[in-house]
Amino acid sequence: MEGAMVLRRFLMFAGCLLWSAVVTADWYTDEQAIMGTVIRTELWSDDPLTAAEAIMLVNEEMHRIDRLMSTYKPDSEISRVNRDAAENPVRISAELLDLLARGIEMSRLSHGAFDITYASVGQMYDFRAGVRPDEKQINAILPAIDYRFVELDPAERTVSFARPGVRIDLGGIAKGYAVERGVGILRGQGIEHGLVSAGGDSRVLGDRRGAPWIVGVRDPRNSDWVVARLPLIDEAISTSGDYERFFEEDGVRYHHIISPVTGHSAGEVRSVTIIGPNATMTDGLSTSVFVMGVQDGLQLIDSLDDFEAVIVDKHGQLHQSDGFLPPKK
Ligand code: AMP
Ligand code: MG
Repeated sequence: MEGAMVLRRFLMFAGCLLWSAVVTADWYTDEQAIMGTVIRTELWSDDPLTAAEAIMLVNEEMHRIDRLMSTYKPDSEISRVNRDAAENPVRISAELLDLLARGIEMSRLSHGAFDITYASVGQMYDFRAGVRPDEKQINAILPAIDYRFVELDPAERTVSFARPGVRIDLGGIAKGYAVERGVGILRGQGIEHGLVSAGGDSRVLGDRRGAPWIVGVRDPRNSDWVVARLPLIDEAISTSGDYERFFEEDGVRYHHIISPVTGHSAGEVRSVTIIGPNATMTDGLSTSVFVMGVQDGLQLIDSLDDFEAVIVDKHGQLHQSDGFLPPKK
């Protein structure tokens, strides 16, 4: 009798354990408006507290990066640089120094298509309010656009601008960097399957438990349609599109990706999607290829190991890098 009782207790206990495993081992998702975009975190965990803690840490990191890099926040580190670096060297954090160096590296790689000093003219656009500079204003400020005006001194940890009028903005790599950091946090919390995305930039951790993550590339002119679906495992994906922030005037689309040569929105393509092993890189490359256009852009991607591209050009035509094409016989 006593034995049966013990057995029954044991079975009830085991049943409870099983029940809690069934109800708590699950996908957890969260969305927050941070960095002027939607931050989405998805993860698999067998414990809701671990999941909640991991999500909270990711969101805190996003706020921290925003405080560092937002040009809309007058007290951010980057705003201080923009205010003072033409006058005298500005001492900055090792993190910002590193990101500026990566921005400059991306300029070299893209032969100047990516240029954080695009902001010298970029700051004159307000896509929400439909404001843009006129030809005279653009021509007056174009000489202030050149990444070589950004001088870094790693030993002193300072940045200075070689001439007045220079402004910088890390918007072309900041979100990729943020999601890369976010996934690093998930990994540090013991998560093995997850995703962090910030608008057009995502990084996946592991697979989706037995299957790859599938990320759709939307049709740039119809948000309900996709032009491609890409399977991803432990990879980053970034899309730059002319539909993200724009306004139209007299049939012309003014959008947020600016050619450093003309000071106008780059017009050769509608969207560029890059996949690769690192989100800061895929983010910078998607912006770069957008400015470079199909031919030069694909040439750049084909010259890099581990990165692939899907481009929708200005006519709606799809192009892809070598790695997506069937092998040549
Ligand atoms: P993405 O959506 O990643 O292509 O980033 C677009 C953002 O990059 C814009 O909102 C700007 O902050 C910034 N940006 C625009 N044009 C350039 C450029 N030519 N080089 C570097 N960053 C740029
Ligand atoms: Mg980008």
